[in-house]
Amino acid sequence: MQFSYVNPTQIQFGQGQIASISGLIPKQQKVLVIYGGGSIKSNGVYEQVGAALEGYDWLEFSGVEANPTAETLNKAVAIVKEQGVDYILAVGGGSVIDGSKYVAAAALYEGDGWDILEGKHQVTEAVPLAAILTLPATGSESNMGAVITKAATQTKLAFLAPAVQPKFAVMDPDVMKTLPERQLANGIVDAWVHTCEQYLTFPADAMVQDGYAEALLKNLRVLASQFADRDNDSWRANLMWTANQALNGLIGAGVAQDWATHMIGHELTALYGVDHARSLAIVQPSLLRNQMADKKAKLEQMGRNVFGLDAGDDLAERTVQAIEAFYHSLDVPTQLTEHGADKAAAISSIVGNLESHGMTALGEHQKISLEQSRELLEQAVA
Ligand code: NAP
Ligand code: FE
Repeated sequence: MQFSYVNPTQIQFGQGQIASISGLIPKQQKVLVIYGGGSIKSNGVYEQVGAALEGYDWLEFSGVEANPTAETLNKAVAIVKEQGVDYILAVGGGSVIDGSKYVAAAALYEGDGWDILEGKHQVTEAVPLAAILTLPATGSESNMGAVITKAATQTKLAFLAPAVQPKFAVMDPDVMKTLPERQLANGIVDAWVHTCEQYLTFPADAMVQDGYAEALLKNLRVLASQFADRDNDSWRANLMWTANQALNGLIGAGVAQDWATHMIGHELTALYGVDHARSLAIVQPSLLRNQMADKKAKLEQMGRNVFGLDAGDDLAERTVQAIEAFYHSLDVPTQLTEHGADKAAAISSIVGNLESHGMTALGEHQKISLEQSRELLEQAVA
């Protein structure tokens, strides 16, 4: 095992923590507050941010959509450049935080920001940014990843850069009170798949990472089982922290990481507008079955340690079935056709996009070729 691990994001966790930002953003800084379609205006978060920024020179950019587009974000890039913004404060879910990371990096680049997603520009510097999280799911509030869509070409790509990792993240579970049921279920599923992408891999000898991943998966099972009785501080706080820990670098340190479910899922979202988490629930079970030869031992471990299943020859398959049942318990479908797509056309469009985006050797050992993707999609788009 070999790794370098640091997570430099300061976490301000708990009720009332939005007020703490005034001590964390240097005074004299010109701040751009970036947010989405307006949920923060109707649940009091916007007012709390405004109160905490009293005395600062700040302006705002709203309208970052779910699955944020470069087209929208480039307008914020222009504002940062023209107005001399020193600090970006993202207030929202993964889309707003990812979008703000793009803005922070693109604002210090002369060329087209999309070059960052195509790997034509390596991000080494960015405007400092911080996040106020309103939707626990992605872990974006304390990681260095971002996923951005180019609407014109229906392309959804990711980039990673330490320079865009938030300086601090405010995680006040009270802000979750206004989240619709669908977004809460999505958050549980996204955090679940993030954990699996770093846990259901081979080799399997990282005891700390595995044990911690299993703890997170068990938490998510418990929280899902309490979904009907979720209106309490403890449920909200535990989901918020679990989702964060699922993708803050810790369980992925020194282990093989998969991410094929995410890469294929991104194509489903870009082509059919499927919510991010729902795209993952469609792809993952079929992918696990397709890659059963390599993943069998780890699926069996998950079956024993996370689901408490009995030993047996078919344990790995029963574990995949338990994962499907977990998604269904949250009313999250595991077939693309449930989103209204036509099977043959969908498979050829998705595979065509994977090819044009260079996603031709996916998975922790680059064994998922386009042919494997086509095969597993035959099952996922039944
Ligand atoms: P999201 O797209 O940020 O938000 C979904 C919806 O929830 C929006 O309509 C938003 O409305 C609403 N919302 C957010 N907070 C709310 C609140 N407190 N009350 C009521 N409504 C609220 O969802 P997400 O799942 O967090 O992010 C998904 C994106 O993150 C995808 O693009 C995905 O690819 C990406 N992602 C990133 C990472 C990473 O590591 N960076 C990992 C996985 C996924 P408003 O717009 O009105 O606020
Ligand atoms: Fe995700």
